Amino acid sequence: MLTGQYLDLASPAPVPPAIVPEPLAESSRFLGVQFDCCGVYSRIYMNRQGDAYVGHCPRCAKRVQFGVGPGGTDARFFSVS
Ligand SMILES: [Zn+2]
Repeated sequence: MLTGQYLDLASPAPVPPAIVPEPLAESSRFLGVQFDCCGVYSRIYMNRQGDAYVGHCPRCAKRVQFGVGPGGTDARFFSVS
């Protein structure tokens, strides 16, 4: 028997580098928003708590907010009126 050659199988397998999506990657930290109030497009950014995107219309300063939740939409563009 050559069982000795299989001893390595009992060793803990090396942990592969984790490949996890980064929810807070730069590209997902903002939403594109079409402000119908003024007909302009702008970006709004995630707040400090990381639970909502908040921003203002660049022209009239109308405040907008989109909550962030698990299983939420993957949409990156919204329009507000
Ligand atoms: Zn506006």
